[in-house]
Amino acid sequence: MAGIYLHIPFCKKACHYCNFHFSTQTKHIDAFVTAVLKEIELQKGYLNEPVQTIYFGGGTPSLLEPSQLKQILEALYTHFEIAPAIECTLEANPDDIDATQLAAWKNMGINRLSIGIQSFQAPALNWMNRAHTIEQSHAAIELAHAAGFHNISIDLIYGTPSLSDAELMADLDWIEKYKINHVSCYALTVEDKTALKKMIAKAQIEAVNPEKQARHFEVLTERLQAMGMEHYEISNFAQPGHRSQHNSNYWSGIPYLGLGPSAHSFNQISRQWNIANNALYIQSATMGALNFEIEYLTEANQYNEYMMTQLRRLEGFDIDFVKTHFGNSYFEHTLQVMDTLHTKHYFMQVGNRFALTKEAKFLADGIASDFFILTMAQ
Ligand code: SF4
Repeated sequence: MAGIYLHIPFCKKACHYCNFHFSTQTKHIDAFVTAVLKEIELQKGYLNEPVQTIYFGGGTPSLLEPSQLKQILEALYTHFEIAPAIECTLEANPDDIDATQLAAWKNMGINRLSIGIQSFQAPALNWMNRAHTIEQSHAAIELAHAAGFHNISIDLIYGTPSLSDAELMADLDWIEKYKINHVSCYALTVEDKTALKKMIAKAQIEAVNPEKQARHFEVLTERLQAMGMEHYEISNFAQPGHRSQHNSNYWSGIPYLGLGPSAHSFNQISRQWNIANNALYIQSATMGALNFEIEYLTEANQYNEYMMTQLRRLEGFDIDFVKTHFGNSYFEHTLQVMDTLHTKHYFMQVGNRFALTKEAKFLADGIASDFFILTMAQ
């Protein structure tokens, strides 16, 4: 079973921290929709198996008219084999959510919402330059529940200089009160070419404090687990039965097709990514041409990716799988790295699997890189 990701590359305004591919030139949305419909047709042969998950991400997919989202879904149903009971997620920002939109989304088969809340605190939202208010966040969640959306995920950003420990606890109180069943939590990172990076460089705002971020991560991990959530991936928490299938499939190495500018596709042999430029994407696709770069994955690439994704997951990596799938040299290499890390109590073992301990989770990406085998892309 495969997945399809659609990247909707438009936003109302630029959040200070964001380095995703998007444009605030929303006047090009119509041309983009025409282009993505064409790309769907061009890519109809990419997946060799039925589609189990569809994910509208971005950018801000909720900026599209319901009729445009419906056209895209209909095109997917025309050109791909879609499984009978799919998970269909829409990322939506609180300021785009109202009863009419929710009813339209539900009618067209969207059954999961990922709402970009980020924080329930007004100073934190202002600091991030978000387009929505806290009143809109509360209304969005209440309206979504009233419209019958039971699968709701919210995004939270922690470790921002303006977010106090008490405010983080207050955010977690809201999650508990609203009985949210999936939360994605991201540490604020200062990415290149963002307004945030420039403002910090000019000392216009306070820099990010890694100790505060580690403390916030610990607090929210404990609190969300106390609410009964599984910490099933470093940044993701879910009530049992509510993990994101789409993202879980990414982490399990299942093929997926990415549509729209900057979207990535993966078919277990290669990874390809569309041009991250709206104008050039629209021009190519409407003329019937795909515009992407491709990388064929070496064995070392695949091993690195396996370790990276599995170390981020609750279940950890399977040492037997490393031996049978990658062979003895990779198995020996893994044991050697484990030996050097052993004294730090980074791992716990359950059967064949090694997962990161609670203390090591915040360091997951660094620990994974200790396992990486240097490789040249082919
Ligand atoms: S709404 Fe999302 S994609 Fe758009 S600028 Fe903000 S963080 Fe980035």
